[in-house]
Amino acid sequence: MRDGEGLKSGPGANVRVAVIGGGVAGLAAALALRDRARAQGTPLKVTVFEKDTQTGGNLRTLTQDGWQFEWGPNGFLDNEPATLRLVDRLGLRPRLVRSSDAARRRFLLVNGCLEEIPLSPKAFLSSKLLSPRGKLRMARELLVPPRKDLGRAAVDPATDETIDRFGERRLGREFADVMLDPMVKGVFGGEAKQLSLAAAFPRMVELERDHGGLFRAMIALGRAKRRKGRRTDAGPTGVLHSFDGGMAVLVDALAAALESDPDSEVVRGADVNTIARGDGLWSVSWPGGSRDGFTAVLDAAPAHAAARHTAELDPALSRDLAAIPYAPMAVIALGYARKNVSHDLNGFGMLVPGREKRNLLGALWSSSIFPGLAPDGHVLLRCMAGGAGNPAVMDLDDAALVDLVLKDLRGLMGLRGEPALVNIIRHRRAIAQYVPGHLARLKAIDEAAARHGSLYFLGSAYRGIAVNACVKETEILADKVLTALTGARPAQAEVAP
Ligand SMILES: Cc1cc2nc3c(=O)[nH]c(=O)nc-3n(C[C@H](O)[C@H](O)[C@H](O)COP(=O)(O)OP(=O)(O)OC[C@H]3O[C@@H](n4cnc5c(N)ncnc54)[C@H](O)[C@@H]3O)c2cc1C
Repeated sequence: MRDGEGLKSGPGANVRVAVIGGGVAGLAAALALRDRARAQGTPLKVTVFEKDTQTGGNLRTLTQDGWQFEWGPNGFLDNEPATLRLVDRLGLRPRLVRSSDAARRRFLLVNGCLEEIPLSPKAFLSSKLLSPRGKLRMARELLVPPRKDLGRAAVDPATDETIDRFGERRLGREFADVMLDPMVKGVFGGEAKQLSLAAAFPRMVELERDHGGLFRAMIALGRAKRRKGRRTDAGPTGVLHSFDGGMAVLVDALAAALESDPDSEVVRGADVNTIARGDGLWSVSWPGGSRDGFTAVLDAAPAHAAARHTAELDPALSRDLAAIPYAPMAVIALGYARKNVSHDLNGFGMLVPGREKRNLLGALWSSSIFPGLAPDGHVLLRCMAGGAGNPAVMDLDDAALVDLVLKDLRGLMGLRGEPALVNIIRHRRAIAQYVPGHLARLKAIDEAAARHGSLYFLGSAYRGIAVNACVKETEILADKVLTALTGARPAQAEVAP
């Protein structure tokens, strides 16, 4: 299709929406818009502009000589119904793969030894994760009064507390170092001392605000659960899922659904550099092409790219978008013959607290989590290095990076000989960092977008870095966009494959 061609705005097809970025957020938003518009009988056409020749963003599954590994996320938890609704919408339920039961077992490196993270408070008390003094301090959480200014970070950034500070205040220094620091490294590739609790884990702020503390919240929610006989949302729960064929299955199905719909299209190789508004309609330009006549723009590219798109339109907005930092991360897939690994690999994997002074952030025992990722008689490990706290490792060459990781891993996993597979993926800007002030910045971004009208920003840079958060946001946003465009509350979209 030539640039400037594309979907025609025929009679009754006057609402056209541009989505920039064909990652899971952009693709899912485009589909949600189409489905909702169809359900309410609104003629609406959607065009997704993707920089690369392939769609999917970070959701990409690689295969090599019988090995299968992920470029970005290795799965999603089933505790977010929006992703499962999307799975059903795409007819992917039969391809869903549940992680093994062994994957419930997670380990931390503590004083040089791997310790399993206990799943019950009783088991925690007898574990070696914390010293007796650390456990005692943790138990005193019940006595720590709640902060008075909780929940105000978006309007008063001075009240925005880091994850580390929160952990130390409520549960003690040792808990923050041993438990929170590695969790933040594992989820965000970030540093607990540099990330905002309210932006990264808003539920924790709600629990302290509503119940006066975390243990009090656990007790109250536990009681409510027993009374009602159902699950509560006291903390992250859910089982990790992927697809037979890996996470790419989800984004490939999304792109296919959009491309088989006459009212939507995906333009690949469009590295958008500008969006502009004239006569009430938006235009989108990239080197070698442009399209105009869009009623709304949904920018689902990473924040640093969105900053470029808006540089001419609104320099202050562009500066706010550019100020959202990203952590770098190197993902190193290592395959071994089973006989060359003495560890039983019976679990999900391990995370490494910063105080252990290692270069490894963590390692997943991938072939223990999902079946079919390694050839017979082999195992697959997925190692992470770098992160916001150690960006220098990104500049090492391949051999040096593998040496660095193996120096930490060899003894812990009992590795012998050379790996049968090595694959390195360097994510220079892997994961958005929700630093203190993020919620206030988000508010400024939303206000600026609202001033321009029909401009929206979505994706992992803003309101949740996980696939689940991105998909959930697309449903909410699709409703909001349709309401703004048509004035009518959108009808419930039909869920049909
Ligand atoms: C190493 C790693 C591990 C992760 N692990 C997990 C996990 O286990 N579980 C989980 O839930 N999440 C995980 N995540 C996060 C997950 O990858 C994100 O939630 C998800 O990819 C966000 O999707 P997105 O569409 O917002 O962004 P992206 O996936 O970054 O997609 C953005 C898209 O925009 C395109 N684009 C960029 N600039 C332009 C432009 N100028 N014009 C047009 N298009 C442009 C890009 O090419 C890309 O396709 C991980 C991320 C990384 C990097």
